[in-house]
Amino acid sequence: MKTIGLLGGMSWESTSNYYKALNEGVKSKLGGLHSAKICLYSVDFAEIELLQHQGKWTETADILVDAAKAVELAGADFLMICTNTMHKVVPEIEAKITIPILHIADATAEQLVKDGITTVGLLGTRFTMEQDFYKARLTEKYGINVNVPNSADQTVIHNIIYDELCLGEINPRSKDKYLEVINTLFQQGSEAIILGCTEIALLIQQADTDISLYDTTEIHAKSGVEQALASA
Ligand code: GLU
Repeated sequence: MKTIGLLGGMSWESTSNYYKALNEGVKSKLGGLHSAKICLYSVDFAEIELLQHQGKWTETADILVDAAKAVELAGADFLMICTNTMHKVVPEIEAKITIPILHIADATAEQLVKDGITTVGLLGTRFTMEQDFYKARLTEKYGINVNVPNSADQTVIHNIIYDELCLGEINPRSKDKYLEVINTLFQQGSEAIILGCTEIALLIQQADTDISLYDTTEIHAKSGVEQALASA
């Protein structure tokens, strides 16, 4: 079994779900007392969040590069970054380590392609919904069309992530708002919705709607288990 390197703490609320999903995945494949081999580096999210909102992405990359190097040195065979947003600095991290990164957008896109989905709605932080580092990868590499909410809805979606979900707060009114935005994206032609922030599944689950949801935490963790157990 390969050792999984995790960059977590962004936020720890979702990283704890990654830890659980990876261990459950390995247990269900190998049985008994088997569990995942994991090197986790968990950052202080307050530092990252401040830099993100100041637009200081180079500084966030510096923190994650140091963390990734530590995880590689500790024996990880490949790296998973437990946040969609911080995949923005994947090129900077890739340049400084030798182990591969299992990209969350690739894992998600492969599942969408397998399911024949060509147009999706994307929910996430404003950085993920607005900028190109994530959407362009889905479109250019996989031919998937990506729709995002309008600017006002993006603000609400973004603020709920940072002000509630990353603090572990689950608010029924926020859930209603998310479902409203999901319905709007569906009516505008999205065949399915990517929960493109690793905390969103704390608020919204598939049982809440008939519209197909793609939970990036679950998909990324599943892909991590496959990679850890693959022979090559
Ligand atoms: N976990 C979130 C994501 O998947 C947001 C927190 C962050 O900014 O990293 O994008």
